[in-house]
Amino acid sequence: MPMDPDEVYRSVSNALRKELELRDKLEKEVKALRAEHDTLKDILVGRGILIEGHRTVLVRIGDAAAARAGRTVKLNLYPDKYQVANADVDCVALFPLCRARCCSFSHYLSVQDVQEGLVKWDIEDPYHIRREADGYCTHQSRKTGGCTIHPHRPGTCRAYDCRQDRRVWIDFEKKIPAPMPEGLVPHGE
Ligand code: SF4
Ligand code: SF4
Repeated sequence: MPMDPDEVYRSVSNALRKELELRDKLEKEVKALRAEHDTLKDILVGRGILIEGHRTVLVRIGDAAAARAGRTVKLNLYPDKYQVANADVDCVALFPLCRARCCSFSHYLSVQDVQEGLVKWDIEDPYHIRREADGYCTHQSRKTGGCTIHPHRPGTCRAYDCRQDRRVWIDFEKKIPAPMPEGLVPHGE
């Protein structure tokens, strides 16, 4: 009998979450080891066994190894997004000026989002919210510019306050929007 797609999604999500916990643990251990390594280098340089040039080479090797380790799975920390207070911004009234460009910004989902399975994420960069080629979030309505999953949107979307964000406003009080980012084509009325 074929497996229920929701069941498959939950299994994959749970496996990725366990991987994340393991990676977190390993990252902490690697960080501690690097700190010990740095201390050792300082001692060896202090005793004249290594020169500064050696230290530079060792740092370069360490950085290259860290880059090769590849991407990490990331999650946001909101335990319950439904308890996150909305920023006091009148998005509907401001939409003709801001064109909801906040919905093109990069952010990560939470464990709750992943378990609910309602917010889509980028399969090549778990659990980064999925965006389309036009730069906007998958869940933004291309007709109205609104959020198609509004009751279930992530905690980051709920808490975000654009008033001081220079990507959105040159001056929020005077309602002067910043220029739209290059390549971003706004949707909606
Ligand atoms: S940019 Fe600001 S006003 Fe516009 S939709 Fe986003 S949060 Fe609302
Ligand atoms: S989930 Fe909704 S509010 Fe959040 S970025 Fe996407 S369209 Fe915007």
